[in-house]
Amino acid sequence: MSTIAAISTPDAPGGIAVIRISGDDSIKVAEKIFSPYGDKKVCDMSGYTCAYGIAHDNGERLDDCILTVFKAPHSYTGEDVVEISCHGGLYVTRRILRAALKNGAINAEAGEFTKRAFLNGKLDLTQAEAVMDIISAKGERELKMAENLREGAAFKRVDKCSERLMKLLGDLAAWADYPEEDIPSVEPENLRNELSDISAELGSLIKNYDCGRILREGVSTAIIGKPNVGKSTLFNCLSGFNRSIVTDIAGTTRDVVEESVSIGDITLRLSDTAGIHETNDVIEGMGVDIAEKLIDSSELIIAVFDGGCPLTEDDLYLINKINNKNTVAVINKNDVEQKLDIELISDKLKHIVYLSAKENKGIDELKNVIENIFEINDMTINSVSAANERQKRCIESAIDCIDNCILAIDNGEMLDAINVILDEAEQHILELTGKRITNEVVDEVFSRFCVGK
Ligand code: GDP
Repeated sequence: MSTIAAISTPDAPGGIAVIRISGDDSIKVAEKIFSPYGDKKVCDMSGYTCAYGIAHDNGERLDDCILTVFKAPHSYTGEDVVEISCHGGLYVTRRILRAALKNGAINAEAGEFTKRAFLNGKLDLTQAEAVMDIISAKGERELKMAENLREGAAFKRVDKCSERLMKLLGDLAAWADYPEEDIPSVEPENLRNELSDISAELGSLIKNYDCGRILREGVSTAIIGKPNVGKSTLFNCLSGFNRSIVTDIAGTTRDVVEESVSIGDITLRLSDTAGIHETNDVIEGMGVDIAEKLIDSSELIIAVFDGGCPLTEDDLYLINKINNKNTVAVINKNDVEQKLDIELISDKLKHIVYLSAKENKGIDELKNVIENIFEINDMTINSVSAANERQKRCIESAIDCIDNCILAIDNGEMLDAINVILDEAEQHILELTGKRITNEVVDEVFSRFCVGK
């Protein structure tokens, strides 16, 4: 394998930065660009040891660094790996990388270190994917789910199903080859029971997929309501700073302002929209159109009403637009005398929260209601589930095949035919864990990683 190098820390100034080199020649490359202080030599260093010294490029001193050596197979990639920790300036970091590239390394592609770890058997595919989830985790629960996956929780359960299918396939093959022998586990009844069990076990891995997806990717959320009800104030209150323009002149939010905010464990991808109402102002009117489209495309609607004013035509128009959506009706301004006719809202909308965005009161209740809507609780969070669409697709395809097998058994079809469908189910599971997978899928999975990981 070629020797690859990349900057593994973010592309921004920081306290330290790390240049990672992996491959057969990584020690040789490091020797040419790094000289330890004293009489130590890079080639004499054993695995898991560090040296303090100077990184240089063709005799030009670049920086004082720490070099760490990991020897194959005891490294992240399973190959010889060298990591150079330097001061975290962009220029100096790039110069050290360039020196490595001039001395025999080539640029690593996105995710190539983790791809090598996978190809060298250090990680299965679901664990490799979890590494990316850990990097992109934005909250504690999201991190916990990714950690579960990295520890192989999903893999172990899927792998167990795979073993059970293998056993059935083996039994079927034995039965086909020696039909005169009495092999009880291939009795259609036994086969059917075992397949139903495996199908249910696989099904449990996608049951909480949506909950996991919401924790990972967040919920696209539109804050809507007629002008002046306090949408921007709520938006700012949730995002923690004054991002939207808040005024008491109706119609100040002309376009859509977007922000990701964490409310409890859920990330809301918030859009603060122009107030929805009749308007003659062309630009404001365009904002209203966008707001109406957002209602259709968002997974969650926070519909804001002004508790201090009676309901108007604009409010009713809005209530009718959002009727069937995942909606929380927020009755804002509960710090002033309440004049809103709540019954007209509660007739149509199930989830109602009273709060004061201006005084930052009632936000916890809003959080609880949102968690309820998406059925986020400790049980669903701790359950093991497919981590992404690819894994989910593999599991669904395997379940389809297994269910088809059960149907075939019920229809009294030949065990040979069942064998073929079962083999297909096994292929889908092997694709999930990466035990049997095409190069295209591998490339696709790792292309989503960042360079340096
Ligand atoms: P938007 O047009 O719906 O985005 O409304 P804004 O957020 O711009 O707020 C309109 C006016 O209502 C501003 O004067 C806010 O200070 C005021 N406002 C917003 N939230 C509250 C609240 O909870 N209580 C009170 N009393 N006033 C609020």
